[in-house]
Amino acid sequence: MSHTEKHTTLNNALSREEIKELLSLHDMQEIDLLCRQAFEVKRQNTGNKVYLRGLLELSNICRKNCYYCGICRTNIHLNRYTLNEKEVLDAALFAYENNFGSLVMQSGERLDKEFIHFVDSLLQMIHQKTNNSLGITLSLGEQNKETYKRWFESGAERYLLRIETSNEKLYYKLHPKDKTHSFSDRIAALKNLRKTGYQTGTGIMIGLPFQSIENLADDLLFMHDFGIHMVGMGPYVEHAETPLYNYRSLVPPSEERFLLGLKMIAVLRLLMPDINIASTTALETLNTNGRLKALQAGANVFMPNLTPEQYREDYFLYDGKPGMHTDVMTYLKDFHNKLKENGQEIGWGEKGNSRRAKRV
Ligand code: SAH
Repeated sequence: MSHTEKHTTLNNALSREEIKELLSLHDMQEIDLLCRQAFEVKRQNTGNKVYLRGLLELSNICRKNCYYCGICRTNIHLNRYTLNEKEVLDAALFAYENNFGSLVMQSGERLDKEFIHFVDSLLQMIHQKTNNSLGITLSLGEQNKETYKRWFESGAERYLLRIETSNEKLYYKLHPKDKTHSFSDRIAALKNLRKTGYQTGTGIMIGLPFQSIENLADDLLFMHDFGIHMVGMGPYVEHAETPLYNYRSLVPPSEERFLLGLKMIAVLRLLMPDINIASTTALETLNTNGRLKALQAGANVFMPNLTPEQYREDYFLYDGKPGMHTDVMTYLKDFHNKLKENGQEIGWGEKGNSRRAKRV
């Protein structure tokens, strides 16, 4: 009996050892089997639809200095920008008119009053102009409870805050050890999001220097035990203007890292059958059809980039980030055809809420 067959009957009760075994699979046939099983679990629990989230990268100004991130405060090789109101509303209307169903606003971490107010008013205006029909996700870092509450009341339903790793020691290899980058504050922020009422999402990076298979297994168990509603996780990709680049020799080769990303998504789907899992952009950096493959391995959310083209180069989280000059609707049409070949379809016009969140 193969590793993966053994696990079909275990459903979502995988042990740490079993998770480690699955993440360690090297045989392509066994990896394929794992992905196909995850796809089947997704189909049975969330259906055959892939939900769209139009991604808007609101600002690359950031107070933090995460060692892996291209928009970290100390990187002087980029222009710092913030989209203006018209640019955001135009993109939101584009998402509405093209039936995307939902929108994500992501940004560097900013705690200034002006920004908090700006997001607040954007939320209200977007809802007003789109008949309250767009689901809005925020991914704007750690904020205090009042800010989370204020944005929730203005109509943000979901929030994505990646913990980056669930291992405190590893966290401090990836971040400066200071007040601005506190592991316990990040976990506390995630709990506050859930308490505020958001559909709460988290995620981690895969294939980091110093990261072990045990760390990754624990990340999945963290998500499971937390009862997370949605996950966006993807491979770590080097960025030459960041401190972690010095450790690039410790990073697994691209294809291995990509497959590890795929296995993580598949195992998470087995562990948490009804959550939303995003097929993230970083997967596509390491493999030409990376995002499509992830949707065939258990992911069910796709995030086309709607950031106005002139800013995309400045929201360069990692080297080789794809989609810098693509026309999104042409891309999506082609992508939809590929999905259909695989028995899937885009959930046009649907918010695509996490079924897990509805259940709780
Ligand atoms: N400021 C927000 C959003 C951060 S950017 C916050 O703190 O939540 C969104 C995500 O990009 C990060 O959470 C991180 O996981 C990912 N990211 C950053 N640099 C990366 C890299 N070099 N490779 C892969 N993913 C990266």
